[in-house]
Amino acid sequence: MSMLSHDVIIVGAGLAGMRAALEFAPGVDVAMISKVHPVRSHSGAAQGGVNAALHEDDSWENHAYDTVKGSDYLGDQDAIEIMCREAPSDIRQMEHWGVIFSRNDEERIAQRPFGGAGYPRTCYAADRTGHALLHAMYERVMRRGVKVYEEWFLLSLIMEDGECRGIVALDIPTGQVVSMRARAVVMATGGYGRVYRTSSNGLVNTGDGMAVCYEAGAPLMDMEFVQFHPTTLKSNGVLITEGSRGEGGTLINALGERFMKTYAPNAMELASRDVVSRAEQTEILEGRGVDGCVLLDLRHLGREKILERLPQIRELAIKFAGTDPIEVPIPVRPGAHYSMGGIKADFNGATPLPGLFAAGECSCVSVHGANRLGGNSLLETLVFGRRTGAFVNDYLVGRPMPSPADTHRVEQEKRLAEMVARPAGERGWALREELGTMMNRNVGVFRDRAGLEAAVTVAANVAERARRQWVMDKGKIFNTDLTEALELQHVTELARVIIAGALAREESRGAHFRKDFTTRDDAKWMRHTLAHPDPDGPKLSHAPVAFTRFEPKERTY
Ligand SMILES: Cc1cc2nc3c(=O)[nH]c(=O)nc-3n(C[C@H](O)[C@H](O)[C@H](O)COP(=O)(O)OP(=O)(O)OC[C@H]3O[C@@H](n4cnc5c(N)ncnc54)[C@H](O)[C@@H]3O)c2cc1C
Repeated sequence: MSMLSHDVIIVGAGLAGMRAALEFAPGVDVAMISKVHPVRSHSGAAQGGVNAALHEDDSWENHAYDTVKGSDYLGDQDAIEIMCREAPSDIRQMEHWGVIFSRNDEERIAQRPFGGAGYPRTCYAADRTGHALLHAMYERVMRRGVKVYEEWFLLSLIMEDGECRGIVALDIPTGQVVSMRARAVVMATGGYGRVYRTSSNGLVNTGDGMAVCYEAGAPLMDMEFVQFHPTTLKSNGVLITEGSRGEGGTLINALGERFMKTYAPNAMELASRDVVSRAEQTEILEGRGVDGCVLLDLRHLGREKILERLPQIRELAIKFAGTDPIEVPIPVRPGAHYSMGGIKADFNGATPLPGLFAAGECSCVSVHGANRLGGNSLLETLVFGRRTGAFVNDYLVGRPMPSPADTHRVEQEKRLAEMVARPAGERGWALREELGTMMNRNVGVFRDRAGLEAAVTVAANVAERARRQWVMDKGKIFNTDLTEALELQHVTELARVIIAGALAREESRGAHFRKDFTTRDDAKWMRHTLAHPDPDGPKLSHAPVAFTRFEPKERTY
């Protein structure tokens, strides 16, 4: 196939990618590629809601303060201010685009309390908020005539003279490797939750975009900060939304105590996620858990409220935990959920590589710092998806279409052919399990030097073996054995970056807790981590945090 050509290529068709696609002037030729059908993107799984200070008693400044505090002061305050100031108009726009938000008694958009928030400011569509947003957005994308390449897999960036001139991708159904040139490329490939053995994330969340950009020289920022959500199911990591605590659900231990009173006497179950997850893990480790879990009790909310506000989580609990929350508490535990770190980008989506932009969970702007507040991630996709689209639209003016060489495609074709030709070796799924289990154990809620040093060795070893893994399917058509092999290489690469950052950061901040350095160290560590690729493993450097109005304080809930 000859080289495909579009003004802009957006990699990823979740909320961030689609929102960016909708900002381009009518004449601009916009293409989007996605390894799954757009509405199968993980955004569609978001349950609890999206934050905005809509009520007159609330303010964007309050929202910004809660976000900065939630971030343990590592979030860039200039970017946080932008997000919180622009949030209300983005929510209204979504409503005008047809998102059916739940209503309160006054027929206004209802807002529920969420963790770490001083005011109920999370807008929701029952417990299916992401689904509602994603479908409304997809309709617009269809109407706009965005060219969508569905079930195409990003392989590499086309980098020439230090700038990004397009991508190379695999058309999964046919097995063809195709070059796509563009005047700009926007990365919107979502998170990497599947680096861990259990995760609330969909199977597609293997951080491909982050890994590919990193290999191309774009620094990854603050990757050591991984969010563990306090309420995931033991069996498979499926998420039970924070909205269930927002609606009044409580957490109890084996003794029937509401243990959060020891850890966060004011906010209780609605402290920020890092705090609640550590509390649960401590209860479990000290022997007050129930079969490796704690219990989420919703019974007092009553049947009617559960059916109206939390219908999906009831279904999930029945299906995957065998418990009906109307009758019995749900066993839950902390699980890998969200990537605070990602491709370093500014608040217009620009990365350090010319021609390359990033938005959504794959990027690090950084509005979440060391810990994200629930409801701020959907918001990030809307605000920064929009801003990135608008910025790139202007960036295209006067920028000619590049004419990259065909060598980039040839290289990738050769790489895949070699992987498929290998006659024997270790299977990727086994390596994936080895890596994920180690990540759960050594790079989880609590970390220490010995565990992280062991993790460095295991991850480097798995990375090396992953290069020689055995792809059993030798065919071209829909070779998911091959795409899974590529995903394994991506998660291993990212694991190495996460571990390197976690080992270097000798302090505890937000979601990163070191048992051997239990306090926050602003003098040394009030700074972002940047990771750069190197044959010997990630090389780290640092960048300053942007401050505007909020002085760092001790964080209590
Ligand atoms: C279960 C769950 C519940 C959540 N609930 C909430 C919530 O209530 N509120 C909140 O604020 N946040 C929530 N989050 C977080 C939030 O949903 C995500 O951070 C956000 O939706 C990410 O959007 P995105 O557009 O960046 O990426 P995604 O929606 O993950 O989309 C990524 C896209 O990239 C594509 N892609 C990836 N790799 C490749 C590749 N190699 N080639 C081609 N395409 C590729 C995928 O196909 C997909 O289209 C939740 C997350 C989970 C997992």
